[in-house]
Amino acid sequence: MDCDKCGNPAVMHAAYSGLHLCEKHFCRSVEKRVRRRIREDALLSPDATPDDPETWVVGLSGGKDSVVLTHILHETFAKDPRVELLALTIHEGIEGYRDESVDACLDLVEALDLRHELVTYEEEFGLRMDDVAESDPLGMAPCAYCGVFRRDVLSRYATEFDADKLLTGHNLDDEAQTALMNVLEGDVAQVAKHFDASLGSFEERAEVEELVPRAKPLRDVPEKEVALYAHLKDLPAHITECPHASEAYRGEIQRLLLDLEENHPGTRHSIMAGYEELAGIAAERYRRGDGPEMRECERCGGATTRSLCRKCQLVEAVDAA
Ligand code: SF4
Ligand code: ZN
Repeated sequence: MDCDKCGNPAVMHAAYSGLHLCEKHFCRSVEKRVRRRIREDALLSPDATPDDPETWVVGLSGGKDSVVLTHILHETFAKDPRVELLALTIHEGIEGYRDESVDACLDLVEALDLRHELVTYEEEFGLRMDDVAESDPLGMAPCAYCGVFRRDVLSRYATEFDADKLLTGHNLDDEAQTALMNVLEGDVAQVAKHFDASLGSFEERAEVEELVPRAKPLRDVPEKEVALYAHLKDLPAHITECPHASEAYRGEIQRLLLDLEENHPGTRHSIMAGYEELAGIAAERYRRGDGPEMRECERCGGATTRSLCRKCQLVEAVDAA
């Protein structure tokens, strides 16, 4: 098949749009979607100047998503002194796996000459995911602990670095899976959070939760396209799967969505379009004060609806095991 834009040999066919694209036009189309998201979700403040730039923290795990995000952000802002990028890598204490992906991060930040910080669960919480997976005091999937710890580290360090934005590499498939899981679990509070996290209203959210505003610039790009982009650009991404990856429910949803997408191209996009509208309605309700009240965690001071935040509950359970 030939590229619909220029007639050169196509490297991909997107069933949801019907387009065949060659390497050049495919890469351009990915970059265009990511930049549009940056403009819409992570708008640069008019107050940002070369003397007083914004700091954007990028969560860099070394996997294809975060490597592609960091690469495109760098290409976009390398010559714009109003934005300073800082890559933040988290080592969860997963032998073998994470050491290799940290190497991928180091290769990338060296090639792009980016500021880079490495944080470990060991130093932050006094634990390693290999041990947590083994002891598993609450009988959950390792990812259920790991995700809570990761969100905590990202938001605390974004605050510590005085970041203006926190960007992560979630792609369209990740987002559609999360949306479907929240709907199927009936978790309206999570649905409402999506609105604040992904659709602007940064100042409001930052004020309410004292959190650094966040954005997911890859959220319009399907996982397969992120992988193809990383491959075509020869980016140093680490592709092995984590040995503890066992979020069984997400796996089921992922298979379901892939089947649906195959039989009904465009399903992921339509899920997200509807979900955003629902999230807006849910968020509005919470803003009117119908939602749970936020207060400070007794131990760490983080924002929570309970006396102890989820992270402190989990650290306590792991310590007691
Ligand atoms: Fe953590 Fe699960 Fe990701 Fe492994 S797959 S790094 S355990 S969240
Ligand atoms: Zn806490």
